[in-house]
Amino acid sequence: MSEGIGFIGLGAIGRPMARHLVKKFGAVVWNRTEQRARAFAAETGATIAPSAVELVRSADVVMTCLPTSREVREVVEATAPAWRSGQLLVDLTSGDPATSRDVAARLAAVGVGFVDAPVSGGTSGAEAGRLTVMLGGEARWVEQARPLVEAFAATIVHVGPVGTGHALKAVNNALLAVGIQAAGEGLAALVKLGVPAAKALEVINASSGRSNVTENLIPQRVVTRAWPRTFRLALLDKDLGIAVDVLRQTRVASEAIVMAKRVFGEARKELGEEADHVELIKVIERQAGVEIK
Ligand code: NDP
Repeated sequence: MSEGIGFIGLGAIGRPMARHLVKKFGAVVWNRTEQRARAFAAETGATIAPSAVELVRSADVVMTCLPTSREVREVVEATAPAWRSGQLLVDLTSGDPATSRDVAARLAAVGVGFVDAPVSGGTSGAEAGRLTVMLGGEARWVEQARPLVEAFAATIVHVGPVGTGHALKAVNNALLAVGIQAAGEGLAALVKLGVPAAKALEVINASSGRSNVTENLIPQRVVTRAWPRTFRLALLDKDLGIAVDVLRQTRVASEAIVMAKRVFGEARKELGEEADHVELIKVIERQAGVEIK
């Protein structure tokens, strides 16, 4: 069945996902900053909704990709009169489980389904249509969301009820953050000892310490001094906060993740809202008085 898709949030990762959806199914889009929606429509042929309310009125399935669950809740509240029974909200935001459960309950009261569907794989994965997507929600809504998500995903896993997708995404990103911090600190020390970064990475990447951070992020972004901005450090700091909450609520020790949250929070204050997540390593380099290269 072909469904009318409405997409809200044409940011760094929303844009490439929406591009795949437009190509495969066609879609109506809305973005807070209208200029971005206009540029996207000119490039893809997507239709622009005049407002979020109009988008919700015209769509069967609404997809959101916003910074946090707070903005998702704001959009749902602002469009409340437009929702009707049988519609579905698929939230691609890396959100927080508690707010998502709340939004889902509110929508369920008017017969609207909710699936949390955070993604992993970065902007390059989104462009290639190779993202990993973790779905949280009731099976019937998840099965409705799946063929749409397939437009930009290589791996799609239904992980549990509403909120579990967001919990899993937060834990995944906490592992990313801990990895960036630990690799940055360890490599800074090795370079100070006279080991070139390329040699250190050659060994680590053939050993048990390797990860996406050492195999891709540091060689491509730090050693080259390219520092591209694809995923804001502020958003990773937000994800760490969600992960700390998830661990605390489940009464699990959270020492490593709490420490990463503190370090990324301090870097966010120093580097600002637009810095990329890998730029944490700039702070480590400055404190150590060395460049990892
Ligand atoms: P961006 O900051 O690039 O984009 C955010 C989008 O949300 C923009 O379209 C922005 O509109 C819109 N927005 C912000 N505030 C509001 C609001 N109050 N009301 C309506 N719209 C609003 O973020 P990303 O695209 O990078 O990230 C989006 C989500 O995806 C986040 O949860 C992030 O953690 C997650 N994510 C990001 C990845 C990445 O590599 N970038 C990877 C995996 C997940 P405007 O144009 O007006 O600013």
